[in-house]
Amino acid sequence: MRPRRCRRIKGNPDCTYFKPEKTISKEEINLTLEELEAIRLKDHEELEQTKAAEKMNISQPTFHRILQEARKKIADALVNARPLRIYGGANKMAMRKFRCYACEHKWEVPYGTGRPDKCPKCNSINIHRSEEDRGFGRGTGICGRRQRGQGPAMQAMSQ
Ligand SMILES: [Zn+2]
Repeated sequence: MRPRRCRRIKGNPDCTYFKPEKTISKEEINLTLEELEAIRLKDHEELEQTKAAEKMNISQPTFHRILQEARKKIADALVNARPLRIYGGANKMAMRKFRCYACEHKWEVPYGTGRPDKCPKCNSINIHRSEEDRGFGRGTGICGRRQRGQGPAMQAMSQ
């Protein structure tokens, strides 16, 4: 499991795929939703970095790192004429629900923390994404921040 932070973003963009007229490298660049959001707040809305970080519910250094990564990717796409796809990195839903088929245990993990590989209660690997959270979507999602051993996901894992 690779823990990933989860941030507040402003829903999905209208367009998620950009393709150069002439593609030099076909290797796609993946810009995450949170990277797009960082660009949107800082470079498009021209917010102060403190304000932008606040809006995304993350620390300034984290915001800065995301922004740098986003700019690097966009530069790569423009300079090297690579297609750019926007996906991942955050989600409209705050939590993902999982269910264990072995012991019927149900639990949640914040979106973006990765799929758990076993049931936190009985260690069975026979777990499935619960369907009941599908369709639950709002424009803005707030998820737990990555804090080693303190996030809801970590608590669920160690129970
Ligand atoms: Zn179980």
